[in-house]
Amino acid sequence: MLRKLLLLSSLCLYLAAEAHIFVYHRFDDPRYPSTNTTLKELEREFTYLKTHGYKVIPLKKLAIALKRGVPIDPKWVVLTIDDGFKSFLKALPLFKKFGYPFTIFVATKPIEGKYPDFLSWKDLRTISQYGEIALHSHAHPHLCDLSDQKIIADTQKAIDLFQKHLSFIPTSYAYPYGEYNERVRKIIEKFGFEIICNQNRGAIDKTSDPKDIDRIALVGKSNLKSALHIKHLDAQWIEPKIYPHDRILRSIVAHIDPIYKKAQVYATGYGWKKVAVKDGVIVFHPNYRLKKRRVRVIIKVKDSKISTKLLVRSRYGAK
Ligand SMILES: [Zn+2]
Repeated sequence: MLRKLLLLSSLCLYLAAEAHIFVYHRFDDPRYPSTNTTLKELEREFTYLKTHGYKVIPLKKLAIALKRGVPIDPKWVVLTIDDGFKSFLKALPLFKKFGYPFTIFVATKPIEGKYPDFLSWKDLRTISQYGEIALHSHAHPHLCDLSDQKIIADTQKAIDLFQKHLSFIPTSYAYPYGEYNERVRKIIEKFGFEIICNQNRGAIDKTSDPKDIDRIALVGKSNLKSALHIKHLDAQWIEPKIYPHDRILRSIVAHIDPIYKKAQVYATGYGWKKVAVKDGVIVFHPNYRLKKRRVRVIIKVKDSKISTKLLVRSRYGAK
């Protein structure tokens, strides 16, 4: 009986298995504390992952698992780096020492323009022996503020530069600033990327959409342990779908698993509020006046299960 129970509980654990994707920016660069990770901290984090049995896998392996619907190993971790700063060269020996694969999302304009703070095409050719080089736009724009044509032109330019200098077409994309809406998403998706990453706090389970992948930012002395406890909440968002034109967030409506009776809802600028869940439906009318152009609305239930909806104000509308 006990064996049966144990088997059942480990099976449940596996069914609810989640992978975590982290994003770094700069390494050992104290000029930018808000995006920097020291090498000492990086080594501490890598050591934690290793000693706690986490398996750092390539992003592509996770993409394949999601596509095929095969189970996600709860010990899977994916490491990504955004922007392509030169300081990554300082961190590369640690990735090599631990044998950790990675995906580095680069914007092509600073590389092509030989900006001193950024990696060169030559650097990237060397780096590509150890990890995946992926796309983070050309000019690192706020995509929601661009017309459809400008988003297409920015992305195509970056792809062309990849082909010219690296001889391949990138298959993974990360939105600059993690900013997107439905309109932006549809345009970027048409380029056929296998995986598209945002920068919303969350974990990945088998219900995750490969074209809308959550990543958790790690900066400074980050709390890796608590980040690894975050779980994916499968939520169907009904409201809000877009940033409200009059900036008043009237309703938050979502469908979640009816086993949850209580939830908490967060909106940027307003903190967490407790809400009731009735038959798997959350209906909350906060009437918040939104102050920021970028707002995150998050639903959280027990066991740190979360789902995030990003709202970005845009003069082009969101649809
Ligand atoms: Zn970026």
